[in-house]
Amino acid sequence: MQKIKGSCLCSAVSFEVVKTFDKLFFCSCDQCRQITGSAFASNLFVTADGFSWLSGAEDIVRYQVPGRDISKTFCRICGSGVPWSSGDGSKVVVPAGSLHEEPVVGERTRIFAAEQPSWSLRLEQINTHPGFPE
Ligand SMILES: [Zn+2]
Ligand SMILES: [Zn+2]
Repeated sequence: MQKIKGSCLCSAVSFEVVKTFDKLFFCSCDQCRQITGSAFASNLFVTADGFSWLSGAEDIVRYQVPGRDISKTFCRICGSGVPWSSGDGSKVVVPAGSLHEEPVVGERTRIFAAEQPSWSLRLEQINTHPGFPE
């Protein structure tokens, strides 16, 4: 099975995961917006046997949202979001932006779209530059 790697920004925390995912979820719920500080979280889900830590498990800090199956796990050095085990531990939630290679994704789905802020709608219509604007 083909694997790809991912890490936090400072590389203390790194992992390996399967390259192919059934689904990618863009979640705009209140918790995901606060957790990411952005319009939505971009999360891939994988079964636990398709995921392994390579380094830095001791550098991970976890915040559990009270009463919900939502966690924020992050590198204590650089603050980047890193993967976390959901609920019963059978699934690992992988922040898509932490991957070093492009995953193969079967289906992309937006959830909690009703909670998406208006400033993040119609992204395909805004001024776009390949890097910093000239
Ligand atoms: Zn880090
Ligand atoms: Zn969410």
